[in-house]
Amino acid sequence: MSKKHKIVSLIIPVLNEEDAISPFMAAMDGCLGGISGYHFEYIFVDDGSTDGTLARLRDLAEAGRPVQIIELSRNFGKEAALSAGIDHAEGDAVIPIDVDLQDPPHVIVDMIAKWEAGWEVVLAMRSDRSSDTLVKSQSARLFYWLHNRFSAPRIPANCGDFRLMDKVVVAALRRLPESQRFMKGLFAWVGFRTTSVSYVRESRSAGQSKFNVGKLLDFAIQGFTSFSLAPLRLWHILGVMVSLLSLAFATFIVVRVLVHGIDVPGYASLMVVVLFLGGLQLIGIGVLGEYLGRSYFEAKRRPIYIIRKVHSRQDDC
Ligand code: UDP
Ligand code: MG
Repeated sequence: MSKKHKIVSLIIPVLNEEDAISPFMAAMDGCLGGISGYHFEYIFVDDGSTDGTLARLRDLAEAGRPVQIIELSRNFGKEAALSAGIDHAEGDAVIPIDVDLQDPPHVIVDMIAKWEAGWEVVLAMRSDRSSDTLVKSQSARLFYWLHNRFSAPRIPANCGDFRLMDKVVVAALRRLPESQRFMKGLFAWVGFRTTSVSYVRESRSAGQSKFNVGKLLDFAIQGFTSFSLAPLRLWHILGVMVSLLSLAFATFIVVRVLVHGIDVPGYASLMVVVLFLGGLQLIGIGVLGEYLGRSYFEAKRRPIYIIRKVHSRQDDC
């Protein structure tokens, strides 16, 4: 590789994607073949695949492709896989990209042009989410709305992990020590001069989405609680409001007793208040628990991922 070529590292997390790898490489060759002056390195992070994914990746390396394979010891999730890729990328720019061609490779050409114009982060914005199911697109909308209302910095909506980051941004990301990694939030948190290019989200080239409703919900809660204390504050505000209401109610009861004498019936209203407050307290404890649990995992300081082996280009994979 000539020294004057800039290196662009593509980080591709893969989980059971044996059928998607060949179409991905073919599409990349088609798009990137025409760009001169850059060397593209492919960093595949095998996130605990149990199918032929690793074998396919090793075939690529054997065929002399500029492929590095980071083999994780088990499935750690896409966020951890991305972190592993970011820790190993040596490029002047780094682009996380899905293997299923939902992030179209031709966008990379536009990203590089903006990067060369001096931008440090180039986001790929989805101008169209029609390839997503209605539930997914609407729940994503709700998540971004809620997140951006209560957390800072805001995460640009309609934009996934697909983006170009200059090496200064990557160096900043490597300094973030937390093990709860909501990458979209971390990407936004580090800042830097940011612009975007728009693209149309395609359907998956092969295989199936690895995210079900439960995983997405967990992801959303993790994202929200990682960057906002609003849920905790909500209980504070609710507590104050309920106390004020109780005070008003107590005054009302005292005045009524003074005016009309002791009023024995009141079982229904008593039950309603007790149950309401009990429920409120349980929810509050639940929210506290969510934060406490996350702090607990953070306090363990476990590594974000474990690598079984890094197959670098030099290895006889
Ligand atoms: N992926 C991964 N680990 C996981 C889940 C997903 O490495 O635990 C990879 C997957 O192989 C793909 C990318 O992350 O390259 C995006 O996953 P997917 O297409 O299933 O997500 P969606 O596009 O449906 O949001
Ligand atoms: Mg996908």
